[in-house]
This record gives sequence, structure tokens and C-alpha cells, in this order.
Amino acid sequence: MNRTTTRAARPRTRPRFRPRTRPLAVALLLAVLAAGCGKAGTPPPKGPQPSSLPSYQVRDAASITGSPTLDAARGRGHLVVGAKEDQPYLGQKNPATGVYSGFDIEIAKMVGASLGFPPERIQFKTIASANRETALQNGQVDYYVGTYTINDNRKKLVGFAGPYFVAGQSLLVRKNDDRIHGPQDLDGRKVCSAAGSTPYQRIQSQYPKAHLIGYDTYSACVDNLITDQVDAVTTDNAILLGYAAKVPDELKVVGPLFSKEPYGIGTPKNDTALRAALNDALASHEQNGDWKRAFDATLGLSGEPAPTPPPIDRY
Ligand code: GLU
Repeated sequence: MNRTTTRAARPRTRPRFRPRTRPLAVALLLAVLAAGCGKAGTPPPKGPQPSSLPSYQVRDAASITGSPTLDAARGRGHLVVGAKEDQPYLGQKNPATGVYSGFDIEIAKMVGASLGFPPERIQFKTIASANRETALQNGQVDYYVGTYTINDNRKKLVGFAGPYFVAGQSLLVRKNDDRIHGPQDLDGRKVCSAAGSTPYQRIQSQYPKAHLIGYDTYSACVDNLITDQVDAVTTDNAILLGYAAKVPDELKVVGPLFSKEPYGIGTPKNDTALRAALNDALASHEQNGDWKRAFDATLGLSGEPAPTPPPIDRY
């Protein structure tokens, strides 16, 4: 049922170095990330347990009118929600079951319930960072929940409900690396990020002496970090903490946060009725404790205490 549109990761800029492949290390990491467990031979660290996840009251949403997106979903019988599938604690797909889990997935489900759709009537679809705007513009997804920063450039192309969380750009390096403590140490170093993301764009414009490498996904960057092919991975701290928590003996998050990344629910640009309904839904789930319960059961497992959700921006 869940289809993926993420293509096999490939570099967007050709690395100037000759890649060394260590298939065993890559296979091990992939297995670890995919299974959501710890290093081979060690017990799995805490991950979202289905039993600890909240359930959300499904609303009779007949009063929500004027949304072409919602009307189409009603006709089809289910919502199609864009998400990430390789971001621990945020949006991760179990390769064996096809089930998605994480904080973003819970956000998608809680607002889905407010739109009248129980979780079994939500189909998740993996969309990479660079493809989010086109997926929303082409109607491939009804809304998108996947570490999606609200900004003015993107607002020209899509709509945003929220924000529902604020992250900040940070760096992931190998545990034994003492050279990199912040973005000022990136000159001449190989830094990997996802093409089309705000962290990628920030390194490109503000740290031009870094040797920036773009892949479709952050997990591809992490593979390259583990196998010594890049020196750092950069994106939001919330994402990096998830990777570090999966292999704490190998990776660490370093340095200060050097941006603000307010996460929004992406919508088709002109569907203001959907955007308003999603903002109402977020507000009510923040108020009734669902938001915090969802955070504690997912992203909170990476060691972050639940913050106060940011004020919703009904622009
Ligand atoms: N929040 C950033 C963005 O929206 C980075 C994470 C991501 O690529 O999803 O570009």
C-alpha cells in the first residue's frame, strides 16, 4: 500500500575524492537504521513502542468545507500523506511491515483524526526533501509532515500549517573526530546534506569553503560518514540526534545550533480551508495533551525533553 518515491541515493555534486567502499560497514549501518535497533549483538535501544503511542479521537469533520484536497480524499476514502522514511524518531518506515513511525507520523495522524480519518485510512508516501514542493503541487500527497521548514521561498510554492516544532541546524561527526566543533571548522572538509534542504542551502551560501556533497537522503550521508567518505553530516539537530542515538559509539552531534527551523505541515498552496483546519487541529491537540504524549513516545526517546510547542502562525 505504501509506495516510495525516494530513488536510490546518488550524489548531486560529484565528490572530488575517490570513494572507498566498505560494504560491510554500510550493510551493518543500514541494517541497524532499518531495524531501528542498536549495534549488532547489543540489545536494541528504546524505540517507539506501538503500545506507548497515543491514539487520537477521530472527529466528525463534515463541518470542514471548501477544501478541494479534503474533498478528493473523502472521495478516495483515504488520505495520502507525504513523509520521510529514514529519520529515526521522526519519520521511519519499518521495512518488514511497511509501518511508518515517529513524531512527524504522530503529527500526521493526530491532524488526520481531526479531519475525520482514522490511522488505517492514512496512506504514507515517502517523499525526499528536494521533491516536497512538486509532490504538493502535483497532488501526489494531500499534506506533508517530514521535518519541513517553513520559509518565505517555500511559501511561494506551497502552504504551511504550524509550526508544530522548532529545530536548528547542527553537525554530526564521527565520535573520534576532534577537528569539527561548529560550522566555522568546515573549511576544506567534506560535508554532506540532503539536496533541496535548508541546511544544504545554508552551507552553500554561508560556508562556501566547505566541500558540500548532496544526496537525496540524510541516511545516505550518514552511511558516508561512517565509512569515512565525508567528514560531517549537517541538518536539523532533531534529525541528527536520532542517527547518533542509534550508533552512539560511532557518531556524535557537535556544536551550537546555527539556524532556526520551524517545522510546518506542507499543504497545496491555495487550499486555505485545509490549512486553517490543520492549524485548528494542531492547536487542539497541543491543548489536550496529545502533542506532548506523542513527543514523549517518539522524539523524546532521543533524549530531548518535550518543549512548549511554538505559537501557530495563521498567516
Ligand atoms: N528542515 C530542513 C528542511 O526543511 C531540513 C530537514 C529536511 O530536509 O527535511 O529543509
